Amino acid sequence: MPRLVKESPGKGRLHIDSPLMGESLVSKEFLKRTEAKEYFRMQPEINVIKIGGQSIIDRGRDAVLPVVDVLIRAKEKHKIILMTGGGTRARHVYSIGVDLGMPTGVLSKLGDKVSWQNAEMLSVLLNKYGGVKIGHGDNLEQLTMFCQLGYLPITYGIPPYGFFEHPAEFGSIPPHRTDCGAFLLAENIGARSLIFLKDERGLFDRDPKKVPKAQRKKMHFFDRISAKKLLELDLDDLIIERPILTLLQRAKCLKELQIIDALNHPEHILAALEGKHVGTIIYKE
Ligand code: ADP
Ligand code: MG
Repeated sequence: MPRLVKESPGKGRLHIDSPLMGESLVSKEFLKRTEAKEYFRMQPEINVIKIGGQSIIDRGRDAVLPVVDVLIRAKEKHKIILMTGGGTRARHVYSIGVDLGMPTGVLSKLGDKVSWQNAEMLSVLLNKYGGVKIGHGDNLEQLTMFCQLGYLPITYGIPPYGFFEHPAEFGSIPPHRTDCGAFLLAENIGARSLIFLKDERGLFDRDPKKVPKAQRKKMHFFDRISAKKLLELDLDDLIIERPILTLLQRAKCLKELQIIDALNHPEHILAALEGKHVGTIIYKE
């Protein structure tokens, strides 16, 4: 706790004696001492659901409407914020940007508009059931209020890095896209759960879409795996953005996330919200 110290009583000037005073805030030993025993969870009843751009929304009404139906039912029992992916249009603008040699931060700015468009469409579809599109400002502090009033807040998944996006390990595609955005929000609000709606059962040892049908039985399915183990496996491709694995290992509030197949099993959204294991759970070790 900072303490007010009266250095020169005659003049009545106050100095703040803070435990962070004189520290660079870089020392590892020092930073370890700032670890809290338990972190405050601001919105512990909110479930963060990220709906895939490429995996769900781009497939149009046959994929989206069944998911919307389940969300309408789910919202009656659970507090939810829906976050949207980008998908094919984001990939198209990235490919033009990459071709033109655009910096990662610019690519990030290009992609966020697509995820915003998807948030717009979902908020229209859900409007009469309480769907309301919100931005990344003060509304994020009001999620519990929105949900208590019966609304279903919807926002875009891209985190607001823009020109501050980190350089990617390989190539120039922004490494923190909508999966990361959903993760970061869930962690920082101390959410109840984080669920990714995709078009596959969960995580396999390779991308099932690139495996010929005859060989699919040979794929290994992970129903539960720690982020640490998954990092060690260093798979070439993943069903969620790779930085999440490192972030989950460092998470203060989130303990796990679940990836489910909402394309073929939209009803799994309700099951996952009820804590059932219906896809792949990645957890913090
Ligand atoms: P979203 O639109 O939800 O962000 P993406 O298309 O970006 O979805 O990512 C999901 C896709 O990742 C799946 O449809 C699958 O084809 C692919 N994928 C890549 N690697 C894997 C893996 N190891 N296990 C499962 N799916 C994978
Ligand atoms: Mg994706």
